[in-house]
Amino acid sequence: MLQKIYIALLLSAFGFVALGQDAYLNAESEQTDKVYQGGKPYNVKMYPQEFKSEKPKNIIFLIGDGMGVSQVFAGLTANQGKLFIENCRYIGFSKTQSADNYITDSAAGGTALSCGVKTYNGAIGVDADTMKITSILEEAEEHGLATGLVSTSSITHATPASFIAHQPNRGMYEHIAADFLEIDIDVFIGGGIAHFINRKDGRNLVEELKNKGYTVENDIKKMSKIKKGKLAGLTAEVHNGRMEERGDMLPMATNTALNILSNNNKGFFLMVEGSQIDWGGHANSTVYIVEDMLDFDETVGEAIKFAAKDGETLVLVTADHETGGMALTGGNISTGMVKAGYPTKSHTGVMVPVFAYGPGAKKFIGIMDNTDIHHKMKKLLLNK
Ligand code: MG
Ligand code: ZN
Repeated sequence: MLQKIYIALLLSAFGFVALGQDAYLNAESEQTDKVYQGGKPYNVKMYPQEFKSEKPKNIIFLIGDGMGVSQVFAGLTANQGKLFIENCRYIGFSKTQSADNYITDSAAGGTALSCGVKTYNGAIGVDADTMKITSILEEAEEHGLATGLVSTSSITHATPASFIAHQPNRGMYEHIAADFLEIDIDVFIGGGIAHFINRKDGRNLVEELKNKGYTVENDIKKMSKIKKGKLAGLTAEVHNGRMEERGDMLPMATNTALNILSNNNKGFFLMVEGSQIDWGGHANSTVYIVEDMLDFDETVGEAIKFAAKDGETLVLVTADHETGGMALTGGNISTGMVKAGYPTKSHTGVMVPVFAYGPGAKKFIGIMDNTDIHHKMKKLLLNK
């Protein structure tokens, strides 16, 4: 009981902090944002479906935050009929409900995927009683595998945080940043430098990271030249900008992480998040959703290119939940035009797709709980 009161107090204390940072929750889209008019499509390559092994040595786990089937098909339409995701021949659906809500948030959704436990909305790597639970990234680390996190949001935001941090509320960004010092993660790239240096406790986590042997870099072009060692890439004060501002940050960061992680001959676990598909959904902006969906798909393409060459890498693509209840009310595959309507500015309860490519991919067909994705990954990667 006391614990419940404690949680409630924390939720109210940190709730407005979260709102202050996460302006995307209150964003309004213009009427012109409802229709994506089409753009120049990129080429999609289809890769072979033969692999070296039955079980993966490496997993690249890509989360499109807020990415339901409509978001995927909006991307497919916008790119005039083709996506890299189509390389994934094994497809399932994930049930996203959290322990306390039919509609999950990204913290409980992230924790279900990272730790395999359903918890309350707002929880980061803790169970429904706020007890710390171990993530697949931490277990991979314990087994001697290399580990990495990449995100277009702040690296302290709910989705990446749930793979590395253990805090009762997602708004505790400075506590979450400090949790990055508690583990030997090899590479992380995302925004959020403010949470590492402008801290109430006076700690300078950038200095602490350097003392632990990390190269700390904020320029994506510079860090993309780093091929080994430990890397902390902090690319924005808080969140990275939209596509027009951040450009190829996500695919570049993913390739940078893959270069570093593939040095470990025991294997690696890498989580990559396309964070802002969700923010487009909150804003009910078709343009925002499509731009970020295509950026995410091109990043999936980089992961699949690596996996096809490597032959021992499983690529998994899924979402934590859908956002906006996006409905495609019109479109044109020849021009890439997409028109959508939205019944809500929040998340929805619908199942989200799971796409798999590589050794072990066939385990991900059918309808599963979000927590099952964690258990399947762990069995394949760590034999646990
Ligand atoms: Mg997220
Ligand atoms: Zn959201």
